[in-house]
Amino acid sequence: MGQLASRDSGVGGDHLKQPVQFLKGVGPRRAAALARLGIESLADLLGHYPRDWQDRREPTDLSRPAESPLAVVRGRVVRAEGHRAGPRMSIFKAILATPAGEIAALWFKHATRRYDVFTSLKRDMAPGAEVWVVGRCEPDLLGAREVRAEEYYLADDPRASLHVGRIVPIYDLTEGISQRLLRELVQGALTAADGELHESLPPRLLQERGLLSYVQALRGAHFPASWPERDAARNRLAYDEFLLLELAWFLKRRQNQVLVKGFGYEIKRSLLTPFRKQLGFELTHAQIRVINEIFDDMRQGRPMTRLLQGDVGSGKTVVALSALLLAVENGFQGAFMAPTEILADQHLGTMLNFLRGLPVRAVLLTSRLKAKEREAALTQVRRGEADIVVGTHALLEEDVQFPRLRLAVVDEQHRFGVRQRTTLRQKSGLMDLLVMTATPIPRTLALALYGDLDVSTLDELPPGKTTARTVRAPEAEALELVKAEAAAGRQSYIVYPIIEESSRLDLQSAKMEYERLRAGPLAGLKVALIHGAMPGGQKAKIMSEFAAGQWQVLVATPVIEVGIDVANATVMVIQNADRFGMASLHQLRGRIGRGRLDSTCFLVAQPKTPQARHRLETLAASSDGFRIAEEDLKLRGPGEFMGTAQHGEVALKMGDVFRDAALLSVARQDAERALSEDAKLLLPEHAGLRARLLALYEKEWDWVDLA
Ligand code: ADP
Ligand code: MG
Repeated sequence: MGQLASRDSGVGGDHLKQPVQFLKGVGPRRAAALARLGIESLADLLGHYPRDWQDRREPTDLSRPAESPLAVVRGRVVRAEGHRAGPRMSIFKAILATPAGEIAALWFKHATRRYDVFTSLKRDMAPGAEVWVVGRCEPDLLGAREVRAEEYYLADDPRASLHVGRIVPIYDLTEGISQRLLRELVQGALTAADGELHESLPPRLLQERGLLSYVQALRGAHFPASWPERDAARNRLAYDEFLLLELAWFLKRRQNQVLVKGFGYEIKRSLLTPFRKQLGFELTHAQIRVINEIFDDMRQGRPMTRLLQGDVGSGKTVVALSALLLAVENGFQGAFMAPTEILADQHLGTMLNFLRGLPVRAVLLTSRLKAKEREAALTQVRRGEADIVVGTHALLEEDVQFPRLRLAVVDEQHRFGVRQRTTLRQKSGLMDLLVMTATPIPRTLALALYGDLDVSTLDELPPGKTTARTVRAPEAEALELVKAEAAAGRQSYIVYPIIEESSRLDLQSAKMEYERLRAGPLAGLKVALIHGAMPGGQKAKIMSEFAAGQWQVLVATPVIEVGIDVANATVMVIQNADRFGMASLHQLRGRIGRGRLDSTCFLVAQPKTPQARHRLETLAASSDGFRIAEEDLKLRGPGEFMGTAQHGEVALKMGDVFRDAALLSVARQDAERALSEDAKLLLPEHAGLRARLLALYEKEWDWVDLA
């Protein structure tokens, strides 16, 4: 992280590499706290952009109803005193005369006998002093306004001008680091780095795109004199990030395009035809189109790097299997990588089912296999007896040797990073790569976020698939329907969140909930429990019993997210739904409505934040996976949306792919033009960009190639 900020924030001289301890007021303890924010050098500090800004140019007009709970007060101290308010609490109160009348400013501190906690306040809040106080403002019992002070400044202190009477930056913090301290440190770093903040963009681009210089942008981002200046600064810094990202994507694509895989596929149909015949359904138009796109790629002389996006239930597995079978028909091996053991397990089951009777051997390879099983699987892979290997990232380990691996399929691609994709590809030299995601996003965004990939989209659900009606409701109401449906011979899922597969606490509460439901609200019904920590055999047993209708209700952790296909299940109750991400919720509800029956998904939750509420409401209102993925992305931002694994891929700190969509496409054009005019960025005007790309190459993006 430390380097991430510095290499992102442009090019600078040696001064910028100085550790933060160089600054006044930073000792070892503060340096350690800053390091938690990823701030180690002055450059990191400058690259720690504000997450927000606050307008403190004028004191808050306290005679009007508050627009925000935060008030900026300027007044003259009338009187002030501190007193004990309990065994452990002391309060200091200053009455300030303001144009809107008298206001009380309050400070709360832990009391201690050893010294007077209010020494400096007593000194500063002398009657007659002009002060600024910033804090939360709430009416007291009698309606008079009080400010719970968070910061205060003496009006005649020259340092106050950094914190009040202006637009101030608001930063992400960590314990031991306050907004005030950060502002002062950033200001200090700006001064120390004066004259060393070199421009890395070609002057021509700055001019054409009307962008601020790097120095202006840094100052304007941290300490803007006006909102337009803040906007211009943010624009420049966002453009900068986009340009770098797009350059990197173009380079990566270029690198892929010149690769020669040295083998080709022939569509023999020896496996594909019997496979299609025994599917039991017709492929959708979208599936046929996408399979053709993939086959076209696979027949090319250069390796395929393709993203397959398709909503839950759009039938990606059949598409993946078709690609795998084309490889097997040609005498090659294929790998299928899933993000978790459970998913790998379930995918293997699905595939074996589809492959029944075909001369294709599929094996499982995960780290949870027993030593003996693993050895056996490894041997089959090594001898080339295994045609299709399904597994987790255990597939990437050294001792997994494929003699004839030519195709890798990666499911739920957003949970893996570019690095893992690359490792998988390196396993067998130059092979074909198909990555899949169930959180489809609009094309322009896909280009920005997964710029090294070609994109195929399954935009059609198989016939007969209905999306479950989704409602927010209290648990009691949901359980009523569970009982009614059970009486009518139908089945239900009740799902509890397990965020970490290893979280014992979550597991424990799911088990307790199971007992509670069985003993109380659902007494008399046949209720089973299934969770990820169960041995695979036991899970499989319960799942097949449920599929056979032996259980009326299945209480589950999200193991059922993928794989179960029970047409008779018509109700899903998702407990604590606010703890799931939108994409997971959408995946989960995709488990019902698999048949022709009407189905209902209940979201049971008391969301604690407006965002959480918005997420649930969006889900209830829409069944469109594209729309949901887009909302999810908006709410969480690309970093979180794509998972931490990809953090280094899209280091967008200032750029927002939605707000700045137009800027993003401008940057894309500029990146393409720069590389078409100067393929290796060797022109002097590109020196700055080149240096930054190479820095990325060293640190994280090991695929950026300018040699
Ligand atoms: P995804 O992985 O895209 O969420 P799956 O591959 O699991 O979707 O497919 C969902 C379900 O639809 C599976 O039961 C699958 O067998 C079935 N299915 C796939 N394609 C078709 C089709 N063309 N017609 C009918 N059912 C299909
Ligand atoms: Mg799937």
